[in-house]
Amino acid sequence: MAILKEINPVKTYLGKLSHNTDLLEELTGFCISHNITLGRIDAVGAVQKARLAYYDQENKTYRFFTINRHLEITSLTGNITIKDGKPIVHVHITLADKKGNAFGGHLAEGTIVFACEVCIQVFQGETFKRGFDRTTGLPLWEMGE
Ligand code: ZN
Repeated sequence: MAILKEINPVKTYLGKLSHNTDLLEELTGFCISHNITLGRIDAVGAVQKARLAYYDQENKTYRFFTINRHLEITSLTGNITIKDGKPIVHVHITLADKKGNAFGGHLAEGTIVFACEVCIQVFQGETFKRGFDRTTGLPLWEMGE
């Protein structure tokens, strides 16, 4: 059964990231420095190169890959919660090349910003903590099931 909790937005940040920075490190660093422990993120922009991951469900491990090309961020969406006591940004991204071909996956460190406009919405209330889930092998939210 699905478990969803009602949460309310308290604050929204809108801004841009700096050229030539690491996309995931910048998002995570902002959340840590602003003590954001529950929220959502979306963004658009472009990257100079991308490093993503695909979760191999059979082997329960991430397969990392790099795309060494200039790409548009056609969609970036994700959330902010807590893992091991620190804010963790979990983001998936879809990128497109000059022909419109799309690539996507779980955003990893090593994706370099060309330009990026970001919206971060902060939610009120107790954060969701991540813990190891035996079924999937992933650090999923512990929601009292
Ligand atoms: Zn993911």
